[in-house]
Amino acid sequence: MSKDKFQISFNEGTTIFIEGEAGECAYIVQEGTVDLYALLNGQSVSLTQFNKGDLFGEMALIDNQLRSGTAVAASDVTLLRVPKNYIETRIDKSDDIVSALLKVVLNRFREMRDRLAKVAMGKSLYQANEELQQLDRSNGDGVKVATYRIEQEDKLRQAFHDNHLELYYQPIISIADGSIAGCESLIRWRDPEKGLIPPIDFIGLAEDTGLIIPISEWIIEEACNARGRFAAIYPDIYVSVNLSPRQFESMSLVDNIAAIFDKTKVDTSKVYLEITETTLMSDPVQVANILSKLKALNTVIALDDFGTGYSSFSYLHRFPIDILKIDQSFVFTMMNNFKSKEIVRTLCTLASSLGMKVVAEGVEQQEELSQLNTFKADYGQGYYIAKPMPEKDFVEFLTTYQN
Ligand code: C2E
Ligand code: CA
Ligand code: CA
Repeated sequence: MSKDKFQISFNEGTTIFIEGEAGECAYIVQEGTVDLYALLNGQSVSLTQFNKGDLFGEMALIDNQLRSGTAVAASDVTLLRVPKNYIETRIDKSDDIVSALLKVVLNRFREMRDRLAKVAMGKSLYQANEELQQLDRSNGDGVKVATYRIEQEDKLRQAFHDNHLELYYQPIISIADGSIAGCESLIRWRDPEKGLIPPIDFIGLAEDTGLIIPISEWIIEEACNARGRFAAIYPDIYVSVNLSPRQFESMSLVDNIAAIFDKTKVDTSKVYLEITETTLMSDPVQVANILSKLKALNTVIALDDFGTGYSSFSYLHRFPIDILKIDQSFVFTMMNNFKSKEIVRTLCTLASSLGMKVVAEGVEQQEELSQLNTFKADYGQGYYIAKPMPEKDFVEFLTTYQN
């Protein structure tokens, strides 16, 4: 008789689950004793006993395999049920290397058990081993996933160590007069074999593995130093840097950035930090706190890809944001799509009334630039002006640029 939803009681001698059936929950023993049996050679053999506080029946939940033993109440027992979806969602949410390895460990465990059973059934150890290897090959998918991820992580770590990461720079112009206002730093991985790898192919990996933290510190330092070199040609130029949501998980971001500013002696009012709406919403209180400390260092905060996320003006006043970067998807379609055009127009007006500046991203044509000018958008960035380029080319671009 169960007292609540998760608590369940069995009388002595009752079968709780049977080997071979699908498992829909695990159990924790609250009172009494449970015997676990397995069928070997057609005979039921006692494997182990579970007492108060022990967890059992959990294996079937992890990889959807059938129950590998039969559980019987050795006395009157009270158990706590742990439903399958509790465990499944947690495994799904966990790191994919962890979940792949968990499945491998379980498979190995079952194979060992099967091998022992076969030896017990009179097969030679050699025969049993042969069969085990067969099995090992057939459930290698988890290993493959884990191996691939570990290899990729190792390659990225090595690339960072070997200075194969580099920053490209894309100019940002003042729309009113066409002069250069700043540039955005965009990371690339220059692999000796594969060539140039775009950020979309490795930023996610860097974020999942935490490598984004040291990589970003390097990016910020590199961009601050580059800003000094660009300022020799364009004294007022700003450099903008992308920050990842992972960096906002720790307050140490502020100290790390402050230390880089000290070391590079950069004019901090010329360092723009780009964050996304996802970052703002991940932990609004902590992020607002960090942003106000970054503002106190005299930096400028830009909200990237605006319009693609929560797109709500209602929260903007809660954060010290100076610049809205209108996502390129609106700018691309603006000339052919009335709604996009109205969104861009509205964002420009609203930003201005909130005292923010606007950067229109993804400007690919002259007409878009003219249209943005009529909307009084402050800045423009896109292939029409120039694609992102290595520092050497960017210096050349600054030297020869005429508005
Ligand atoms: P983002 O911050 O929105 O960067 C703008 C992206 O749009 C860049 O792609 C840029 O090359 C591209 N772009 C600029 N103008 C145009 C245009 O006119 N047309 C088109 N089709 N594309 C244009 P990229 O360099 O591949 O970067 C992609 C994303 O990767 C960035 O999007 C950003 O989210 C991330 N990323 C890049 N560098 C860094 C970095 O240093 N740190 C972090 N955390 N993320 C970065
Ligand atoms: Ca950006
Ligand atoms: Ca963007």
